[in-house]
Amino acid sequence: MLLLAATATADHPVRGGLVLAAVVFAGAAFYAASCAWWPFKACRRCSGAGKLRSPFGRAFRLCPRCKGTGRRLRLGRVVYNAIARVRRDGTRGNR
Ligand SMILES: [Zn+2]
Repeated sequence: MLLLAATATADHPVRGGLVLAAVVFAGAAFYAASCAWWPFKACRRCSGAGKLRSPFGRAFRLCPRCKGTGRRLRLGRVVYNAIARVRRDGTRGNR
């Protein structure tokens, strides 16, 4: 796909830009849809377990990063939530 865009740019600059824009837009749309469907990713600190084990024994504590859930919001979902919060605060209950 990238090769196709590069070839299109070589012989026709305007069409190449359009193809590139379409590819970028499609990728962004796919990422947005995937963030709507799968809003979480595994916490990197505890790799989704929600707890951190002590180096010896069976002791553990809850992961402070994800507060023991093992889940972290994906970047696209964080952005969506921020926009939704601003929109909600701007449109409801404060007239
Ligand atoms: Zn964690």
